[in-house]
Amino acid sequence: MKQDQFTLFYDEIYSSGLDPTTRFPVDRYKKLHERLKDLDHENRINWKKPRLARKEELLLAHEPSYVDRFLEQRLREEEIRRIGLRPWKREIVERTLRLTGGALEGLQLLLEGSDLAGNMAGGTHHAFRGAGAGYCIFNDLAICAKKALLNKEINKLVILDLDVHQGDGTAEIFEKEDRVHTISLHGKNNFPFRKKTSNWDLEFENGTGDEEYLTALDRVLDKLAPEPFDLIFFQTGVDALASDALGLLNLSREGLRKRNKKVFEWRNTMKSPMLLFMGGGYAKPIEDTVDAFCDLFLYAAEENRKPMGKV
Ligand SMILES: [Zn+2]
Repeated sequence: MKQDQFTLFYDEIYSSGLDPTTRFPVDRYKKLHERLKDLDHENRINWKKPRLARKEELLLAHEPSYVDRFLEQRLREEEIRRIGLRPWKREIVERTLRLTGGALEGLQLLLEGSDLAGNMAGGTHHAFRGAGAGYCIFNDLAICAKKALLNKEINKLVILDLDVHQGDGTAEIFEKEDRVHTISLHGKNNFPFRKKTSNWDLEFENGTGDEEYLTALDRVLDKLAPEPFDLIFFQTGVDALASDALGLLNLSREGLRKRNKKVFEWRNTMKSPMLLFMGGGYAKPIEDTVDAFCDLFLYAAEENRKPMGKV
């Protein structure tokens, strides 16, 4: 790997591990991977195949009985319905372990001194300790945060969740954990309909556009800026896009680009290592989601070349 390459974890199973007839747009990973390979002329992205997450890592954030039932293909029908990835495919187990592994490997890179890494899936913020929901099985943000906190040098981290849906699972898992600061900017009328309490929740009305959204984001980042965080986890969901079938907001592709830029500028002020978790995106056509994620990962790869300047 070249020093200035941006490491992005990806495996074919991110798409192939789900049934093609599920309502979830399974092809978006494959399409995004192809598009990024086409556009990354200067080889700025270091593609890596992730390892499988280990059971003891899942147990950092999840109940043993839930973990066992999932690993042994014994989830109940109503649990599968709540997760929503139907028809269920046996490969979902390997897919889930691998995408969680991608986030954990990204975390490891940060702990070893990288400023930035990403996983091209995950951001599974609706998963609770003992239950999955809304396309999420295990909460990779929570697993990584718990794992990071085992490290003596990590005393405070922030989870900035800009997916259009509230990070309810993450909020609940860290309800009583002062070392993890949870922030969620989301649509007021979107799933989940019963919201949980993050450290900071900011809700938007249906149809909120770029200007209002970006002004609100500025307010959040300005307020956070003086606070030192040892790590930043960025849930980068692009489902606030106007053409998204599940988000109810009205952001443009350019608005999302500006959103990404603001987050990276804030990170540069903080001088904290940052891990990117992909999050949601269900645009019709799905190419709009792919475009928005393409913008994000290419921008991350470009930013990664610039020295962040450690304090
Ligand atoms: Zn979402």
